[in-house]
Amino acid sequence: MAALDDPRRRRVGLLYDERMCRHATPDGESHPENPERIRTIWRKLESEGIPQRCVVMSAKEAEDKYIAPVHAQSHIKLIRNISSKEFDSQRLRIASKFNSIYFNKGSSEAAYLAAGSVVEVSEKVAKGDLDSAIALVRPPGHHAESDEAMGFCLFNNVAIAANFLLNERPELGIRKILIVDWDVHHGNGTQNMFYKDPRVLFFSVHRFDFGSFYPAGDDGSYCMVGEGPGAGYNINIPWEHGQCGDADYLAVWDHVLLPVVESYNPDIILISAGFDAAVRDPLGGCCVTPYGYSLMLKKLMGFARGKIVMALEGGYNLNSIANSVLACAKVLLEEKPIVGSIEVQPFESTWRVIQEVRHELKTFWPALAVELLQKVLVSNSRPCPVKLNLSSSSESDVESDVGASSSIYSSNFVEIIEPLSKLNIVEDNQGQAIVSNQIPSGQNPIVLSDECPNAQALPDNNVHACIPWRSVLSNIEVWYGSYGSNMWKPRFLCYIEGGKVEGMNKPCPGSRDKSSPKVVIWKTVPHRLFFARSHTRTWGEGGVAFLHPESNKNEKAYMCMYRITLEQFNDVLFQENNLHQENGKSQGAIEPLLDLSEIGIVAQNKSLPLEALKAGWYSNVLYLGKEDNLPILTMTCLFSEVERFKSGELPVTGPSNNYMNTLVRGLVEGKQLTREKAIAYINDAAGRGL
Ligand SMILES: [Zn+2]
Repeated sequence: MAALDDPRRRRVGLLYDERMCRHATPDGESHPENPERIRTIWRKLESEGIPQRCVVMSAKEAEDKYIAPVHAQSHIKLIRNISSKEFDSQRLRIASKFNSIYFNKGSSEAAYLAAGSVVEVSEKVAKGDLDSAIALVRPPGHHAESDEAMGFCLFNNVAIAANFLLNERPELGIRKILIVDWDVHHGNGTQNMFYKDPRVLFFSVHRFDFGSFYPAGDDGSYCMVGEGPGAGYNINIPWEHGQCGDADYLAVWDHVLLPVVESYNPDIILISAGFDAAVRDPLGGCCVTPYGYSLMLKKLMGFARGKIVMALEGGYNLNSIANSVLACAKVLLEEKPIVGSIEVQPFESTWRVIQEVRHELKTFWPALAVELLQKVLVSNSRPCPVKLNLSSSSESDVESDVGASSSIYSSNFVEIIEPLSKLNIVEDNQGQAIVSNQIPSGQNPIVLSDECPNAQALPDNNVHACIPWRSVLSNIEVWYGSYGSNMWKPRFLCYIEGGKVEGMNKPCPGSRDKSSPKVVIWKTVPHRLFFARSHTRTWGEGGVAFLHPESNKNEKAYMCMYRITLEQFNDVLFQENNLHQENGKSQGAIEPLLDLSEIGIVAQNKSLPLEALKAGWYSNVLYLGKEDNLPILTMTCLFSEVERFKSGELPVTGPSNNYMNTLVRGLVEGKQLTREKAIAYINDAAGRGL
């Protein structure tokens, strides 16, 4: 390995400063944009020895004179003073006037440090003191408008740095800046600041959801191409939905960004590096892996002589952001060739967006005028995820907000309904991506995934071997208690073995471990069975079964219990909640929905709402005691939803005929009731008021 002073070695700046952790919610309430974000990233980099290979830098406060060209005086004054004593009593009230903003005593300092740090590293990279740099800054910046804090952002760090290079340090020779904003949200603030300026090419790829995703409105549309002399220098890639992953981003890189950058030929690249499009981000709902980020970055290193500054923006899953930043740091250090494969194709909607953007911008960028090969469009796509709406959800689907997001917190659950077919993007020796439906002969693609950043070369069929929770949970047994259609064993086996039974509208992918339940027994439990909601995708019109989460000794519900592993239990939950293709790969989830430690909690509290399923209908794990010393677990609605059913806010409806038949078959074939008695049991549950 090259030593730090080796002239062949790339000099990568790495800026981290604990003082930026002092910006936190005023009374300690939890918040996605919290100090642990940068701490976790830093610890991860330390554990991998990255700081020793970089030029480590401390933060430096921005000077007002460098902020002034970008932000209004009134805004600068507010951010400068908001943490002072005189604002102690007004801070909460002032924060509440802004959209998704909090202030505390550390906010002013952190905001100045974040902006100053991006200025500092940008200057060093522009000068050539550093080849590239990563600034682990917070609060983030790209939503901050000239006169307004918003979306967790106080000062627009990247915009301040870009302005600084162009207008304060002309001697450094930076005349054209490319800003790549890959945060999952549109960089509205940055766009507005350079909308008429051809010296800054602003490129943002973000969830748009037809204007409903934060920051909502038309600003993130592909029609926003810049104005006056800046026309053509603003490029938006507006995703129509969540779940976009590596293949989608790389398709945009190859078919929009890179051809434009080639022609623009920037002097430096500033990346608004949010990692909230990463897999398992709680706000983003997209699926970019660390490998995906590393490829996106690698492709940019071919421009501006590799002068790249990455400034942290969003990203709220601590593991995902740490692993993603680590992958990027390794790219900047150019230590190892990047190898990997991407197993899914871009969505149909991705090609549609790409074509719209190319059409909109082709007069400015001739490279975009070439028609994309029809072959590429037709063969390399997968159906778009179906966004659920409240009236047509399946029996255990998740509900999504349908209105525009006025807050950066927004529900983002969507689902993919088709199995993914394979598409590999394999880097050849020259770093060119080869996109094919087959692995080129002689190449052995390896998968580097979020869960194993240190993974050695793994044949891609072994990808699951590096998901640690699976091997642990495959040795733990639990009882899965079912009181709905899963009482009928062939129906339940679809979740284990895959496939579908009559009456079902779509097949299940099955669990990774397809071994049958070891034991099947029946039991009755003192809980009220009832039917609510109005429609299931699996069985059609009609209510779905719930168990009242509160026990009641006057009630008796039949329960068919399957003894399965906790790994299988998680796979059942993934499927019930349509999360089974998380991470773009079947059952490639990085974390289980229900871990061993959570079983202890649920046993103690009798029920446990699962945060990851909070938008779903079955987000509450219920503990129903033990059998053979193993916990009996089932899933039902939240207590709060029972109240909404009672009040009539949510519909209470009996099961459809199809669903009724399945329930009755389960009870009859399970030798619990005769057909007549089973029908009476279901009718009684469906007919009584809650
Ligand atoms: Zn974001």
